[in-house]
Amino acid sequence: MRAVRKRLSGWGRFPVEEAWVYRPDSLEDVRELLPGGNLTLRGLGRSYGDASLNKDGNVADLTRLDRFLDFDGETGRLTCEGGVSLAEVLEVFVPRGWFLPVTPGTKFVTVAGAIASDVHGKNHHNASSLSRHVESMALLLASGETVLCSRESLPDLFWATAGGMGLTGIIAQATFRLRRIETSFLHYKAVRARDLDHMLETLEQYDPHYDYSVAWIDGLAGGKDLGKGVVLLGSHAPLAELPTQQRRSPLPVLARRRLSVSRPPPFSVVNRMTIRLLNTSYRFTHRPREALVGYDGFFYPLDGVGAWNRLYGSGGFLQHQSVFPLQASRETLVRLLEMVVKSRHASSLVILKKFGPQEGLLSFPMPGYTVAMDFPVYSAPFLALVSAMDELVAQSGGRVYLAKDACLSRERFQAMYPRWKEWLAAKERYDPRGAFTSSMARRLGLAP
Ligand SMILES: Cc1cc2nc3c(=O)[nH]c(=O)nc-3n(C[C@H](O)[C@H](O)[C@H](O)COP(=O)(O)OP(=O)(O)OC[C@H]3O[C@@H](n4cnc5c(N)ncnc54)[C@H](O)[C@@H]3O)c2cc1C
Repeated sequence: MRAVRKRLSGWGRFPVEEAWVYRPDSLEDVRELLPGGNLTLRGLGRSYGDASLNKDGNVADLTRLDRFLDFDGETGRLTCEGGVSLAEVLEVFVPRGWFLPVTPGTKFVTVAGAIASDVHGKNHHNASSLSRHVESMALLLASGETVLCSRESLPDLFWATAGGMGLTGIIAQATFRLRRIETSFLHYKAVRARDLDHMLETLEQYDPHYDYSVAWIDGLAGGKDLGKGVVLLGSHAPLAELPTQQRRSPLPVLARRRLSVSRPPPFSVVNRMTIRLLNTSYRFTHRPREALVGYDGFFYPLDGVGAWNRLYGSGGFLQHQSVFPLQASRETLVRLLEMVVKSRHASSLVILKKFGPQEGLLSFPMPGYTVAMDFPVYSAPFLALVSAMDELVAQSGGRVYLAKDACLSRERFQAMYPRWKEWLAAKERYDPRGAFTSSMARRLGLAP
């Protein structure tokens, strides 16, 4: 199979690294790549940092393994190849009355990429992460053998692979359960919060009553306004809630028209001034109200603009997403938000969400609060801020999300993910030569 030498990056466009990229058409093609080793698996490249990069090594772009294989219309059990995207699942199954059990904030990710990061959605407080809904996976191991793993069969492999960042084997097929919906609309409610305490109270109050919840925080607000923002809530709307005319076609696929950023500007157009404007317009467009809204705008607001990551210019950007245990959440959040406000490195987007428990050995969620912040442009002082944030998170007993990370040190990773040794033992059992690797894996000591 022919390889092309390419410059690759994750969604954050930092780092950018060259690699030999293969685009196999079938699992047989993929098998040919295994003896060569030094292989990184890649889906749609929506992880932010270096999880699907392999400096000067081999990268297998697996998006052509994208067939639907089986569907049970009674239970919603779907089997598909790993390269199927969530957008394709929605396109085919929303009109039939089924929705994803868990979805990240973009639909342009592959099923395998989503399992490898054990993604969470706005419903983590009641639905956990994606692995909860995965029944089994067919994995192509480094030995060339294909095995089926589940909670019952090879559970060590199953739990090392869900959240295992593509380092245990190729997720060739996955079987997971979709959830039934009567309409493709959501009952939506927006509630304003005046400060962090009010924000946390509001989330605690509404979480039990809504399928989905997430909060947007004004990252420039400090002092008594620290943590002010808007809580966004949603539940799948039942048929009876639609206006009579709409009840005749309650399940439209509601993907919005896409504008696109054709090329990156030479510098980031995201700066303190534009962030201030963005925050004002966000507060204005998310006034307190209740409404019926389409699923696409609710779950995927950023998908409406193609390649929006280019707005950050050629330096790229970083999303720092962390989670802290419940009892440390308030204090850690205050310290983290204050640290950012004082640093003058403005965050263009600050998102807060409450998590429930997790299962995978390297899965990110834990019971507590998670906060994600986007920062434009890399520089030495900015990287020092990220390191200080990582340290604060580690001290609180929390962790940083690997799917968004490009900077975490090996020592901090090991402190944050206490089951890493158990994971490494599984990796050595199923990939003793270390054929599956990545730039992230080498940085964190997850592959030789
Ligand atoms: C706008 C935006 C919003 C997001 N919101 C969320 C969110 O709300 N919640 C959340 O959890 N995440 C979120 N993410 C992160 C995203 O869901 C994950 O990074 C996801 O893993 C990306 O999938 P991908 O197909 O693009 O995979 P890639 O980024 O290409 O790869 C991700 C990982 O999957 C591995 N992998 C890829 N294919 C395979 C395979 N066939 N077998 C085994 N391993 C494989 C790779 O090696 C890599 O480690 C968001 C990302 C963006 C850009």
